[in-house]
Amino acid sequence: MGNKPENAIVLFNGKDLNGWHARNGGDAGWEVSDGVITVKKGTGDIVTDQKFTDFMLHLEWMEPDMPEATGQAKGNSGVYLQGRYEVQVLDSYGIEVPGMGDCGAIYNQHAPLVNACKPALEWQTYDMVFRGARVDDDGNVVDQARVTIMQNGQIIHNNVEMQGPTGGAMDENVGEPGPLLLQDHGNPIKYRNIWLVELPLKGSDKY
Ligand code: MG
Repeated sequence: MGNKPENAIVLFNGKDLNGWHARNGGDAGWEVSDGVITVKKGTGDIVTDQKFTDFMLHLEWMEPDMPEATGQAKGNSGVYLQGRYEVQVLDSYGIEVPGMGDCGAIYNQHAPLVNACKPALEWQTYDMVFRGARVDDDGNVVDQARVTIMQNGQIIHNNVEMQGPTGGAMDENVGEPGPLLLQDHGNPIKYRNIWLVELPLKGSDKY
């Protein structure tokens, strides 16, 4: 994971927010400069125009330096897979045993296996392999969504199963493709180098 393949879909072109919109449907309001997107407080979450089912995702982010802040107020943002499952972005550097709200957590469902966080003001990476939920013809979930996540080169989730959408999800239609969403939680997190590779839903039935 980590090196951009030729078939990658580049979600952030480094220049503007073409291909993104605000969660409320208007223009994406975050700031872009020098190949970096910065959360602009109060403009809301931003969402890709494209929707995806199974994919490998790479992105990089940087925490602001907020030495006085603690807990959920310390550099909070989030990466919502399919707009439904939040992978927490937070300044959790140095926390010995990260919990289900700390950086790298599948929010309020799965704590990261280890604390792989770097300090504020250093670029960090997420590489994720995501498999969307599978539903039957009646829309009942037969396989929950799953994800494996590497943060800064360390595995923090090993094929964990979602228990359904996390808080703040865009919808509950887990059998449908969904966009990538980045969360405005009021703190100036920076993002760059965002791309993904769509994966086939299954291999052939041929021996
Ligand atoms: Mg968050």
